[in-house]
Amino acid sequence: MTDSKSDNEQDSTNLINIQEFLEKWSQIEDFTKKALEKKESPLEQIAQDIDLPVQTVSDLSAVCSLETLLCGSEPEDKKLYYQVIPETDLKTLYYQSQDLQRRKESFFYKNSVLKSMKYNVNDTVHNPKLQNRATIPPEKQVPTPNVVLSINIHRPYNFKSTQPMVDQKILVRGDMFLTEFRDAIDCVNNLAVAGDFSENLAAAQVAPTCGETFKSGFLYIEGTFYNDFRHDDNRDYSKPIIEWMKNSNNCGTTHKTTAMESVRFRDLTVKLGEPYLYMHQGNCEHIISFTDVRMLIADDPQSIDDYPFVVRQVSRRRVLCRSCMMYTARWQVEESVFTPVEPCYLCDGCLTSLHYDEDGNKIGHFKAFKFADTSSVQC
Ligand SMILES: [Zn+2]
Ligand SMILES: [Zn+2]
Repeated sequence: MTDSKSDNEQDSTNLINIQEFLEKWSQIEDFTKKALEKKESPLEQIAQDIDLPVQTVSDLSAVCSLETLLCGSEPEDKKLYYQVIPETDLKTLYYQSQDLQRRKESFFYKNSVLKSMKYNVNDTVHNPKLQNRATIPPEKQVPTPNVVLSINIHRPYNFKSTQPMVDQKILVRGDMFLTEFRDAIDCVNNLAVAGDFSENLAAAQVAPTCGETFKSGFLYIEGTFYNDFRHDDNRDYSKPIIEWMKNSNNCGTTHKTTAMESVRFRDLTVKLGEPYLYMHQGNCEHIISFTDVRMLIADDPQSIDDYPFVVRQVSRRRVLCRSCMMYTARWQVEESVFTPVEPCYLCDGCLTSLHYDEDGNKIGHFKAFKFADTSSVQC
């Protein structure tokens, strides 16, 4: 055990060859079989792990339960915990009660409180459903032994970013192709529609999105550009970069390029936590990083259809229409004399009522671009 622990510690900073990792752990007798065995109840599992009777663990669980923090007069419905204050002498609850009263009396105060709350939006977290492999058709079962990799995808880089924000966390299997992972990455820039549609707003509804038009992209991992060549007209984005690197003194000459669709995750060598790159749409850059590499266990999804598995999707706030401040903005308007800011984001109704006459004719000069904000990306 000491040896394997030191190996793990070393792996956290060193390169990990996924195929070697898989072979090494597969050789350990019964490891794969035990990892995929259906477990007992969580309490029985803990009792087994710490070598105590189940009854003792059950008693400890009851003593340490969150229920022991209640004072007895809370409402049964947990959603009402923050609204119905129990009778106690606690000063914190007294002030909470005062604040709730103030929110009831003033709509503006309530709004300002809700807006300033740090956690007023929640990320979407998906927990894998426990599945019994025996109930899944053999052709749909995840091949074993297998490796599961956890990957963070960061928001597209913009020059205002102070730190790279994680947008998605995705689980992939070792036998999956890189293209399957690429297709699971959500980016708002794929929803953009190129062009000014002020002369014909309806045309924007049927125009292809940038994601449908520009399908090129690459993943850059440990000195190799993995380009997506699934479509004949896809470009090799890495070509000018490699040329530039060759002419630069500091970038080295060991960079390679290969087709993303021919490479599986088990063919990679990665470093945990190292920032790698996903680039698409010409200049939309996402940092990606591998946060975990481990063997497939019983708690993971057991059907191949569940992969890539999105574990976490960060919530997105919608952009409101600048005019009515009620509906979601659908248009980015530029060069208009009717708008107070440049660019101005408007909903369908406000755009047409401000910039078109009753016959639908454009009034004055302006440009209207179809706008999709980050809340439009579905998880
Ligand atoms: Zn992007
Ligand atoms: Zn509006």
